[in-house]
Amino acid sequence: MLIESQIHGNEPHGTTAVLNLLKTLGGSSQRAQEIREAVTVVVVPQLNADGAALDRRQNDRTWDDVVDDFPDLAGAPTAWKYNTKAEGFDINRDFNPDLDYVPAAGDFPGTSAGTGWYITPEAQTVRDVYRSLEQEFGTVDTFVDLHNQGPCYTGEGPNGEATGEYPTLSISGRFIDDPSAFGDWPKFDYDASRRLNVAVFDALQQRGESPHGAVTLYPQNTNLPGTALGSFGLRGSATILFETTGQTQTAGQKGAGQLTKQVEIGLTAVVDGMTDGTLAGVDAERYESIPERRSIPRD
Ligand SMILES: [Zn+2]
Repeated sequence: MLIESQIHGNEPHGTTAVLNLLKTLGGSSQRAQEIREAVTVVVVPQLNADGAALDRRQNDRTWDDVVDDFPDLAGAPTAWKYNTKAEGFDINRDFNPDLDYVPAAGDFPGTSAGTGWYITPEAQTVRDVYRSLEQEFGTVDTFVDLHNQGPCYTGEGPNGEATGEYPTLSISGRFIDDPSAFGDWPKFDYDASRRLNVAVFDALQQRGESPHGAVTLYPQNTNLPGTALGSFGLRGSATILFETTGQTQTAGQKGAGQLTKQVEIGLTAVVDGMTDGTLAGVDAERYESIPERRSIPRD
């Protein structure tokens, strides 16, 4: 199980949650020992450390830095997710299902529906960790990516305005429209991702009281092979995206504590499902009945 947090620097709650999870899993309880024997949990917390220090989405790297690393890219158009004002990249589109992919000038500027390049040191780091896990275990069973989303609601009025409940978390296992569009990926298993999401949804519903019960599906009309979720899903990992509502600028201490707790509950549900055998028995079709989020904030 590989967990990544804060690929967007201003999306902090997953980092706190995953460090809390590690503390729990490292404890002396019998359950913690059982989990450690049953599953290997690897965490890359606060992947975008520069973006976190700058309190922004992008990393801190110029296109010139990239060309220094990959001289063949001199004269190529800059990557579509390079922000010229911030002088940084949205690392969340720099992944490729081919871990041996070498950046080629003809593949730029790229698109949202295309694969990424591993031109950022952050994405290269996650790729290298993922590859080492594949070499050791064959398949990385589960990949979790922890994000924050902007304000959103469950309903939509006649003029497209937001109505209804305010979800505190959106989740998703859907990042690839048509796996065959990106080559031959026989281990791609969308149902495994759906089961994972249902297990997390159920765990948060069982808490009953607000805010942990207010979980929705992240928009499903997505095709994002350049994300780690998309690329690693093609390689056979069951994937789940956590989009906690709110960013560094929008939650005070108490609110942040609640937002962090729901991610911890969700991560614990994943670990429990993987280690107690219940995950395999989850009905993947129930994924389709999780309520959808409305309005379109940034991811
Ligand atoms: Zn994000």
